[in-house]
Amino acid sequence: MTGVDWERLRRMVLSRAGQRCEACGRGPDRDTGRWLEVHERWAYDNRACVQRLRRLVCLCTDCHTATHFGLAMMRGRDSEALDHLCQVTGLTEAQAHEHVDAAFELWTQRSTTTWALDLSILAAAGITVAPPPPPSERSKSRP
Ligand SMILES: [Zn+2]
Repeated sequence: MTGVDWERLRRMVLSRAGQRCEACGRGPDRDTGRWLEVHERWAYDNRACVQRLRRLVCLCTDCHTATHFGLAMMRGRDSEALDHLCQVTGLTEAQAHEHVDAAFELWTQRSTTTWALDLSILAAAGITVAPPPPPSERSKSRP
């Protein structure tokens, strides 16, 4: 995907969402460093070992950080991310911990599989995608 394609895709996703986070409904706020970002949602076919890009959603920085909780932990932002998760979902802190634990368990389980990528949704949107590197050469990302 070229830079121009990515920018076009980003604008398309943000515009479709009405310049609002699809999880918490807030807009960007330059003063607090909250931006609108694009997050990939995947569907996993365990039998065929294919991970298919299902949808691109618009998330604000805070929701995106809460979504990638492993990354938030590495950056020392996990308590902030957990607070935000509780605020947006209405989960109690204990429920949020359970949710995060379950996500890590699923991630650990999925990490044992070598997934082929299905990015056909992008082709349908007129985006040209360079063939992804073979699964063995891609690094595994955290939830
Ligand atoms: Zn948000």
